[in-house]
Amino acid sequence: MTWPRDCIRQRELLANHTSFRIGGPAEWFAEPSGVDELVAILREASRIGVPVSVIGGGTNTLAADRGARGLVLHLGPGFRTIRELSHPEAPMAYVVCGAALLTQRLVFLAAKHGWDGVEALAGLPGQVGGAVAMNAQGIGRFIREISLVLLDGTLRQLTRDQLRFSYRYTALEPGIVTGVVLQFPKVPPPTAYERIHRALQYRNQTQEVRLPSAGCAFKNPPGMGAGRLIDQTGLKGARIGDAQVSCRHANFIVNVGHATCDDVLSLMEHVQRRVLQEFRVRLEPEVRLLGERFG
Ligand SMILES: Cc1cc2nc3c(=O)[nH]c(=O)nc-3n(C[C@H](O)[C@H](O)[C@H](O)COP(=O)(O)OP(=O)(O)OC[C@H]3O[C@@H](n4cnc5c(N)ncnc54)[C@H](O)[C@@H]3O)c2cc1C
Repeated sequence: MTWPRDCIRQRELLANHTSFRIGGPAEWFAEPSGVDELVAILREASRIGVPVSVIGGGTNTLAADRGARGLVLHLGPGFRTIRELSHPEAPMAYVVCGAALLTQRLVFLAAKHGWDGVEALAGLPGQVGGAVAMNAQGIGRFIREISLVLLDGTLRQLTRDQLRFSYRYTALEPGIVTGVVLQFPKVPPPTAYERIHRALQYRNQTQEVRLPSAGCAFKNPPGMGAGRLIDQTGLKGARIGDAQVSCRHANFIVNVGHATCDDVLSLMEHVQRRVLQEFRVRLEPEVRLLGERFG
């Protein structure tokens, strides 16, 4: 096996790359510094038949206790750039950024430059690439196009129409988002700042932000709130091992100590069974599993 360069490590602990603080080792872990290096790694992985997965900020990811077979890709600092393409006085801002940019860095710059609508992303943890893959907080409505590298190393540009964004869904071919062009209407910076500030206050009052989690465990069923359904089953505070249904927000499962992936999945299954029994509603996980539960 001849991996290009030295951006590849073996047995990297995924718990160090997830907000849940859960997960065993990745067999191989790569942090490419640019698109050329990424393409070279993907071509080699494809040639030798190594399975590839991708992790961004790891804030919507539950990594298996046994870790992940094959190669886990994590874009390096070279993918954290951001630049405004439009004239600062133009009524619309066009912004190009790397997929590993922290979503909160984008929000900070939106407040500074008056990019409107970004308050929807205020407080959203993780990276822009992960937010695009999840269509987190409806980020798709700001997207103009993305750059994607397919698993065989082919480069693609995709427009918003091709990505068919909907609730927590993006029509992405298997591959790695490397860059994103966003567009925002402009408002005076104090207006943008005020909207972002209020959105942050609301999030801090309503969400579970103190304990490790991966945000909402389940998607909201059409017309319903998953948190409300779970709350009505009386499951707030229910616990398996060190995984607990948050007492603050019932759709958050939190790690109160040394929870394992198995604890979290067992608790999620318990929640799903109870909600199905009581409301005849099947909850669909929002959190994505990385690796295999039973090896
Ligand atoms: C406290 C807390 C609050 C949260 N609140 C919200 C909320 O209000 N709304 C909401 O929608 N979500 C919320 N989340 C979930 C999560 O923060 C978002 O989904 C976030 O956008 C995921 O970004 P990430 O980089 O961490 O993705 P990751 O967890 O790393 O990955 C998520 C998925 O995207 C894929 N992916 C990641 N990067 C790339 C890439 N470059 N190319 C291709 N695929 C990629 C991964 O393979 C995986 O399938 C919350 C999470 C936490 C911990």
